[in-house]
Amino acid sequence: MMKKNSNETSKNDKIIKNISSILSELGENTSREGLLRTPERYAKSMRFLTSGYETELKNIIGKGIFTDKSSEMVIVRDIELFSLCEHHLLPFYGKAHVAYIPKGKIIGLSKIPRIVDMFARRLQVQERLTNQISNTLMKVLKPHGVAVIIEAHHLCMMMRGVEKQNSKTVTSSMLGSFRTNSTTRKELLSLLNGLARS
Ligand SMILES: [Zn+2]
Repeated sequence: MMKKNSNETSKNDKIIKNISSILSELGENTSREGLLRTPERYAKSMRFLTSGYETELKNIIGKGIFTDKSSEMVIVRDIELFSLCEHHLLPFYGKAHVAYIPKGKIIGLSKIPRIVDMFARRLQVQERLTNQISNTLMKVLKPHGVAVIIEAHHLCMMMRGVEKQNSKTVTSSMLGSFRTNSTTRKELLSLLNGLARS
């Protein structure tokens, strides 16, 4: 345990030193009050924002999967999502909507947002994040189908580059019956749209 802690500290030491030199390179005075502990805070915050690499799926799921005869569509919508774009290390944020059609197994509803967080707390592109969530649910539940839709704002587009402040990126991953059955897909989309209006 002691060893792990001291490794952590020395890993953070490297980040702290490097961020400090980036700040100097940007023309900042790293010894002014507001910046004194910024490299240290940055290291901690980046550790948290990338902590999803170390999260174990089995720890999230625990005993949260149950046998059940239901085969009606389950939708968890408007899951808050915060991630970091791997191209610019700037945040993207928005909402994830996750649906599945059970085939003998259901998952505790609180587990789904935690699976979203596990993949969002990594350096990401929105497309991969969407697929990782759907593939994980497909693997652990073996349901009739899984659908994941993510709508997100990317600060790398809003603050720089094309500066499109209001554009939203939508990605989706449809697996199993959501992919093969257009009626199922339409049912999902009309449920999501209908709920959006209410
Ligand atoms: Zn970006």
